[in-house]
Amino acid sequence: MKIIMLGAPGAGKGTQAKRIAEKYSIPHISTGDIFRANIKNGTELGKKAKTYMDQGALVPDALTCDLVMDRIQQEDCKNGFVLDGFPRTIPQAEALDAALKNIGQTMDYAIDVDVPDENIVNRMGGRRACLNCGATYHITFHPTKEEGKCDACGSETVLRDDDKPETVQKRLEVYHAQTQPLIDYYKEQNILKTVDGTRPMDEVFEAIVAILGA
Ligand code: ADP
Ligand code: ADP
Ligand code: ZN
Repeated sequence: MKIIMLGAPGAGKGTQAKRIAEKYSIPHISTGDIFRANIKNGTELGKKAKTYMDQGALVPDALTCDLVMDRIQQEDCKNGFVLDGFPRTIPQAEALDAALKNIGQTMDYAIDVDVPDENIVNRMGGRRACLNCGATYHITFHPTKEEGKCDACGSETVLRDDDKPETVQKRLEVYHAQTQPLIDYYKEQNILKTVDGTRPMDEVFEAIVAILGA
């Protein structure tokens, strides 16, 4: 099963992608997590990506596409994968389709987690991330057991630099301009499914399972 998660920043793509990956035993591939791991490890890619991410802009397609194409060709992806945060532009979607076409495959589902902009600012302000293991929490909707400490690995949880209100506004603009057109792109391919992302996390997941099959 090959799945794309679509939706605005903070819509809940990552939260749902992790659960999908677990239930269907497929890898969760988050470009944001990959970039953040590179930043943490001080790689050249990380240094380049950071300048864009800090401004709420997209990392250029040239730096993003190859990375994903390499990843989806690894052995653990042979039964499928869930892409979270990729594609984010039409050229990225076209690159993905072209790479899959080469091996006689196509994507199965693009799931749009639909959340209006009004809800997003609140979501992002309350998001806390563990930069060590990638776990995500929310101060109201999904708090850590101990304040400021990751349940999974015990590291500190932080407000991401790009989750500060001024950057969130910019990211929403970038989303509407560059990523939202993908909704029509996948509608035309007949693989678009929409779920109401304003519902509680468990209900959103139930709606997704109803689409993918139990
Ligand atoms: P969110 O889903 O909250 O927007 P992500 O972790 O997916 O956050 O992305 C964080 C940042 O990483 C983005 O704002 C962007 O700068 C960069 N990024 C992630 N995925 C991509 C992509 N496919 N193309 C370009 N930039 C990306
Ligand atoms: P994305 O990957 O789309 O940027 P996340 O999965 O990181 O989004 O979720 C953004 C924030 O909102 C996180 O703090 C997360 O815990 C919280 N969240 C996710 N889904 C829901 C939901 N259905 N209801 C309330 N909060 C949610
Ligand atoms: Zn952690």
